[in-house]
Amino acid sequence: MRCDVIAVGTELLLGQITDTNSQWIGEQLAAHGIDSLLQIKVGDNLDRMVTAIRRTLAEADAVIICGGLGPTHDDLTRDAIATVMGVELVHDAAVADVIRELFARRGRRMADNNLRQAQVPVGATVIPQTRGTAPGLICPVGDKVAYLVPGVPHEMKDMVERAVLADLRARSGDTSAIVSRTLRTWGESESGLNERLDGLIAELDQVGNPTLAFLASGWDGLKVRLTAKAPDAAGAAELLDQWEGRVRSVVGDLVFGIDDDSMESVVLQMLRDQGLSLGLAESVTGGLVAARLTGVPGASDVFRGSIVSYASEVKFDLLEVPTGPVVSEAAAVAMASGARRLLRCDVAIALTGVAGPAEQDGMPVGTLCVAIVGLGEPVTTTFRLPGQREQMRQFSVISALDLLRRSLIERLIITDRG
Ligand code: ATP
Repeated sequence: MRCDVIAVGTELLLGQITDTNSQWIGEQLAAHGIDSLLQIKVGDNLDRMVTAIRRTLAEADAVIICGGLGPTHDDLTRDAIATVMGVELVHDAAVADVIRELFARRGRRMADNNLRQAQVPVGATVIPQTRGTAPGLICPVGDKVAYLVPGVPHEMKDMVERAVLADLRARSGDTSAIVSRTLRTWGESESGLNERLDGLIAELDQVGNPTLAFLASGWDGLKVRLTAKAPDAAGAAELLDQWEGRVRSVVGDLVFGIDDDSMESVVLQMLRDQGLSLGLAESVTGGLVAARLTGVPGASDVFRGSIVSYASEVKFDLLEVPTGPVVSEAAAVAMASGARRLLRCDVAIALTGVAGPAEQDGMPVGTLCVAIVGLGEPVTTTFRLPGQREQMRQFSVISALDLLRRSLIERLIITDRG
């Protein structure tokens, strides 16, 4: 089965936006064992779109076309596919109702041209829209097929995952299950992780199943994705369990979670399991750590609050940090102790550092001092983080939470030994 990809949009050709959709779709097709040999970009021009679709389907069994499903006159993908299929576009009342309802729910008036999105080529199947207003379409073209999905990345991903991949695999006659599991890691570079997993990767290359891929995710760490194929989902899960264990045995607690886990959700769960409440004193991150923690549903049973002690005087007056340099491990310990007292929590973390542009207290840009109090002796570390202001602050969040995670693991080990 071969499925190629067409990304639609003049702004892609002008370099105004980067075609990340094709990259993501290519990755999904590869993971699902579907060949994809050509990716093209085409502007919002009916004739050129028709030509591109015809040429693509002359060679491939299927094509995924993303973009150009919006309500305006330059959204022409529906018209192009109807021309290729040689059929009319007809108004689909059910799709129109869903669009109307969507506008009503958001309390907005629906413009008439939104009904363009309820136009469906005769013979096409609708992929219901759950996020945006444009439905997707599965369009038979002779014995081949075109999948039309929106250009907005999260709408596109939702439809490809929900409808397109399963339809493609059903058409290819492949009934096996393909399941992925992502191990989330923090604390090692891609090349470092690659080196550690060298032997295991070589072994996987030999057996071919599961496959292993690295996905760099900036300040969310590095993801290691295992994709297994088996006759059924249980078999795939068994393979994943086995290889997840092997990966963990090599990289240890660099793995902080799997799939949808985030550093903050993992840390909150560990605190919950250990019956501990958490408070913060944030300087350099100005409340970012609190924002990440409170983004996790149910954080309130563990997280008590954060004192954003940005000005030195606030550190001195409120948190009772001794007068002196405020970017130091000693200052961080004093900040954490002050927060623990004021917020009446079991554990407190403090972050103080230099996000730039200029150095402070003789400390270079990128310095982060973290202290954790409440888990036995205070834990302190000084990090040297890369990047400009925003990147440095985001790295600070995950570095501090990871230090807490490691301290909580340590505490469990000591408790177990005791
Ligand atoms: P909708 O129907 O939801 O309005 P659409 O199908 O009309 O979407 P487009 O108008 O082509 O989609 O694109 C909408 C936005 O989605 C673009 O402005 C851009 O931000 C993003 N987008 C479109 N195509 C791509 C692409 N190939 N890669 C990354 N982003 C894209």
